[in-house]
Amino acid sequence: MKILTVVGARPNFIKAAPLHRAFRQYPTIESKIVHTGQHYDARMSAIFFRELDLPEPDYTLGISTGTQVQQLAEIMLRFEDVLTAEQPDWVLVVGDVTSTLACALVANKMGVRVAHVEAGLRSGDRKMPEEINRILTDSIADLLFVTEQAGLDNLKREGIADEKVRFVGNVMIDSLAYSRMKANEQNTVGQLGLLPGGYVVMTMHRPGNVDTEAGLTNLVAIVERVARDKTVLFPVHPRTRSNLVRYGLLGCLTMIPNVRLLEPQGYLAFLNLLEHAAIVITDSGGVQEETTYLRVPCLTLRQSTERPVTVELGTNQLLAKLDPDSVRERVTDILTCGAKQSLTPPLWDGNAATRIAAALLETRS
Ligand code: UDP
Repeated sequence: MKILTVVGARPNFIKAAPLHRAFRQYPTIESKIVHTGQHYDARMSAIFFRELDLPEPDYTLGISTGTQVQQLAEIMLRFEDVLTAEQPDWVLVVGDVTSTLACALVANKMGVRVAHVEAGLRSGDRKMPEEINRILTDSIADLLFVTEQAGLDNLKREGIADEKVRFVGNVMIDSLAYSRMKANEQNTVGQLGLLPGGYVVMTMHRPGNVDTEAGLTNLVAIVERVARDKTVLFPVHPRTRSNLVRYGLLGCLTMIPNVRLLEPQGYLAFLNLLEHAAIVITDSGGVQEETTYLRVPCLTLRQSTERPVTVELGTNQLLAKLDPDSVRERVTDILTCGAKQSLTPPLWDGNAATRIAAALLETRS
């Protein structure tokens, strides 16, 4: 059985690594990786391949930076050639980025079966480009691998047939469990001269939060308020950095006392920083899950989450009201009263990729 796994952006590499490792356990599976090039620089791409033991991609589509439409179109055209050459049994797409939708569509048009890993997640917010990518990909996928109960409920509500859906757990957590010890050995916290529990980690990159001047100005004010209580470590996503530069706000952020702006971190460094943070403030999808697994308090600066189990069982709290004083209040609450009780969601046990490999193999019979 030949499986082509598509990756394009940072979170994809982290999800694909355990899948490729699981596929290689089976001599009957031929696993190939296609990198679309959505994220291409060393800090957002190459370091993840190295740290997660992913081999060089079999194909690199090398798409250029451009609008979402340009990227979608370019990926589709180039991926068509790959499918023509490879004729795989399955195209496996992960997550919710442009590459996910583009390659799922091409496979569907060319009669190749599509499996979607991390299917069924819905924020309910159709203004998020990721939400549209999720809905469209799920509507054409032949096999849908789900991480949490809400995913099952959403797919049922959308009329996706039960026999296409498998509840398998979370490949993001597979990577975390696989890398946690290595991350702790690397001890980025110590290397940065920090103490466990002595800092807050912040990551922000959703278009809704960082694409407008007003949103970014508010973000700078949030950072300033939080830094009054704790050192803030802020690995700045390239999208956020370029918008900070565009609106002339990078200087203000740099001047705030008790804030350390960092380049995007490698996976091991970031995991170590997450695990020992007092609080994580984020708008990332994956980070909500990782903090839940690590039982680190997480404040998600968004109106909604597509990962409700992290709020129901985990450590995550949504903060829809993004004014700086409310955020600071919530941070102070956690620092003084401690984190909320939390549990590990069902099947987030480090074995999701093995279940996915087994399910794909079953489709042969
Ligand atoms: N991450 C990382 N370095 C960083 C920030 C995040 O390795 O500086 C990892 C994080 O641990 C998680 C993934 O990147 O596994 C999340 O990616 P991102 O927030 O870009 O995407 P999302 O999950 O929101 O789609």
